[in-house]
Amino acid sequence: MKVTFLGTGIMGAPMARHLAEAGHAVTAWNRSTDKARPLAEHGVVVADDAAAAVADAEVVVTMLSDAVAVEDVMAEAAAAASDGALWWQASTVGISGTEALAALAEEHGLVLVDAPVLGTKGPAEDGALTVLASGPDDALARLAPLFDAVGGKTMLLGDAGTGTRFKLVMNHWVLTVTDAIAETIAFAEGVDLDPALYLEAIAGGPLDLGYAHLKGPGMIAGELPVAFPLKHALKDAELILEAAERHALDLALAETVRDRYARAADDGHAEQDMAMVIEAARATSAR
Ligand code: NAP
Repeated sequence: MKVTFLGTGIMGAPMARHLAEAGHAVTAWNRSTDKARPLAEHGVVVADDAAAAVADAEVVVTMLSDAVAVEDVMAEAAAAASDGALWWQASTVGISGTEALAALAEEHGLVLVDAPVLGTKGPAEDGALTVLASGPDDALARLAPLFDAVGGKTMLLGDAGTGTRFKLVMNHWVLTVTDAIAETIAFAEGVDLDPALYLEAIAGGPLDLGYAHLKGPGMIAGELPVAFPLKHALKDAELILEAAERHALDLALAETVRDRYARAADDGHAEQDMAMVIEAARATSAR
């Protein structure tokens, strides 16, 4: 298929590469063009202009930081896209963000497929994401080979909007678990224990979690390569709370977690990996 990929950041670049490697004709655009250029080695055509890039695309994929970025880019580009083109919106933009984008799609005759992804930098590079797909059945069927190219699993969830709601549920799990690991490590340190004992104790038992061993050692050391920028985790915490408000839910844990990510961002960790929320947990423990 002719695919135009808008946004080649941590997630978008490997996703675009996998689409090209699966044999699709991929054009990629990124606001900072330099970040898209390495994709040319993988057969991707790198474009300077988003509107020109989408003009003859059968599928437009957006993988941008937030709803404002997607709306900004698509407000320019959507008018240039062909009537009836499929728009795979993969960024995490929340419920009202998805509603605004659905209106934009309708205005320009695009078919919105709301399919955010679960997984981070490693799974994106390995083509092992989970695609949380929602939208019209025929559009989902047409996009199935693209989902397979970037992912190890596709979950078909229903009408557009469902994928986004489920993504928020899953990120509630990711954000709260990350914060629980961080706080447990900070707690151990705060009572003069080696936090590695915590990872040793859970290993292989019913309370074990692969993710604790993935993120824990880096949290203890205070350094991890950026897989999921903390600023995006904070954005997602806000989107979860927006969903809670709309559905009259009491997500007290999510509020606490949001506050800690906000503190970590204020303390200068916004561009670092979300695991650096440990620094806010340590600061809290020290107070
Ligand atoms: P990223 O590396 O920070 O990339 C963000 C992208 O958005 C870049 O291409 C950036 O362009 C672009 N952008 C930001 N503001 C823009 C604007 N106003 N106009 C045009 N382009 C703009 O983020 P990422 O980790 O790939 O995440 C992308 C999306 O996927 C986010 O919604 C995130 O929450 C979600 N997600 C991330 C992960 C993860 O683990 N990283 C996992 C699942 C879902 P520049 O390069 O020019 O700055």
